[in-house]
Amino acid sequence: MRHRWTRIALATCIAAALAAPGAGHETAEGESKPFRGPLKPDQPLARGYNDAAKALAMVDDNPLIRWEYRVWCETGYRSVSDAGTGQEVDTPADVTRDMVSPKGFFHTGHARELFTPGGVRFLDNAWYFGANGLGVVVVKTDEGLLLFDTMGTPEEFDKAVLSEMPAAGLDPKDITHVFVGHYHWDHTGGVNTVRKLAPKAKVVITEPDARIIDTARRTLLAGQPVEPANALASPRAKPKTAEEAAALRDLRLRSIPDRFDILVTAAPGLKTGLQAIRTGPSTEVFAMLTPGHTPGQMAVVVPVKHQGGVRNLLIMSGNDQPDEAAQYAISTDYLRSAAAQLGADTLINTHPYQSAMYYHLRQLKADPAAPNPFAMGVDGVNRFLGIYADCQRATKQRLQDGTWLGF
Ligand SMILES: [Zn+2]
Repeated sequence: MRHRWTRIALATCIAAALAAPGAGHETAEGESKPFRGPLKPDQPLARGYNDAAKALAMVDDNPLIRWEYRVWCETGYRSVSDAGTGQEVDTPADVTRDMVSPKGFFHTGHARELFTPGGVRFLDNAWYFGANGLGVVVVKTDEGLLLFDTMGTPEEFDKAVLSEMPAAGLDPKDITHVFVGHYHWDHTGGVNTVRKLAPKAKVVITEPDARIIDTARRTLLAGQPVEPANALASPRAKPKTAEEAAALRDLRLRSIPDRFDILVTAAPGLKTGLQAIRTGPSTEVFAMLTPGHTPGQMAVVVPVKHQGGVRNLLIMSGNDQPDEAAQYAISTDYLRSAAAQLGADTLINTHPYQSAMYYHLRQLKADPAAPNPFAMGVDGVNRFLGIYADCQRATKQRLQDGTWLGF
């Protein structure tokens, strides 16, 4: 790992912005620098990858797909505190579609805004709860509720999810499965809470990320410095007194999952894997191990309903990781192929600043009849993932060529 950033992803910055007062305040300032470009024109290979992604983006006017290309290929990954570098993205042609701004592609202030009351029902039986920057997805099946990701701390989970579910007619006690998208603390904070509320609920995670969390928990209990730090709540908190240190340790112990039930593993000889998980007599979920953002990043495909018809929702968790761009591209190719075979035709990310999803969720909350870009069709999901993979390849090449800058 070349840079500290590899262990402190933007996901963590956003979650820090959402953290409850007293939970250890952090700011985005000084933590990390985004990679950025172009400093020089692309060399041929990077240009080729960029153009391949662009070709996919230009045949589809779905706003999530266009954003994917603009941000991941044209502008790079930006810190929320980045003032902008005068690139095209700084003066977007259509802010209602791209939601980028002179201060980067996302504003910290917007990150905290919760979807209240009752989250947003973005499909017939699927809801998003949380804030613009970070949240969870709940799918209601005939056998109960499936939960994807769990916010950063029990308090955040309580406030953003549990207290909002009743307004949507959902009872947290009905949760049968919790899917943890990756090990970073801003996705794992509510796992222990769900166990208490719904003791029979099964927690699903990948084997590589379960191992990281288990090691972090044991190290924390032994009183030793935890690596990677972002496995624990408020990773950059620096307590000044013994009381603050004790409160932080308590928060971290409550926020780190104490065990898992189902581990998704790699296929023999590969770093990627796929596992079918029957969550009830009528529901099967496909969980895919796709290392990139973390060694055990997971995506799932779950059957849902939309406008009365059956659809297959791909739920992603996590964002970029330029130092792992080569593996990320391989994993995304794998995910693209698996998603196509599984008929994934609808897509969401539990970090909905990605692709400006939060903007479209807001539109749907205000008017359920608004256009629903999440239901993009099998071809749309295929293009979306193709763009992501090609932009990862372009990123790797640009960093290698020195035409874009690392951290
Ligand atoms: Zn993350």
